[in-house]
Amino acid sequence: MARLPILRFPDPRLYQKAVPVTVFDADLRSLIANMAETMYAAPGIGLAATQVNVHRQVIVIDTSEDHKRLQVFINPEIIESVGTQFCEEGCLSVPGIYEEVERAEQIKVRAADGEGRIFTLAAEGLLAVCIQHEIDHLKGKVFVEYLSRLKQSRIKAKLQKQQREMA
Ligand SMILES: [Zn+2]
Repeated sequence: MARLPILRFPDPRLYQKAVPVTVFDADLRSLIANMAETMYAAPGIGLAATQVNVHRQVIVIDTSEDHKRLQVFINPEIIESVGTQFCEEGCLSVPGIYEEVERAEQIKVRAADGEGRIFTLAAEGLLAVCIQHEIDHLKGKVFVEYLSRLKQSRIKAKLQKQQREMA
């Protein structure tokens, strides 16, 4: 297993749309393992393949406290969404920024697991937020795009400054 570098907003590669996975092979399993390791090390509760510059529809999530409930969503699709909730979100690609975003309160998602088996899952609360946030990544969307233009440009400036300082 290996930790993968995470793209940082406003890297243009974060705007790329991911393509569906068609082959469930050892390659995919190793991508999933590496994404999980990267997410746990960060630490974070969700990671989309887009964030590690792999533009395939793969998401890993673990919202448990003990990091023992890895959930894998391949080619995920939200098939039902109900209600609204506001939750403060953060993102491994937008470090240090936490902002409130409006999301559906309850969702039903259909996806495949790492072996290609299709499942549907009903989620609410934090897990529902996390799934919606990660699916956005696969569509080339970062959560800051829900914020006002002013906030977005402030965040961009802050992160670009951070990156210059690190370089
Ligand atoms: Zn994110």
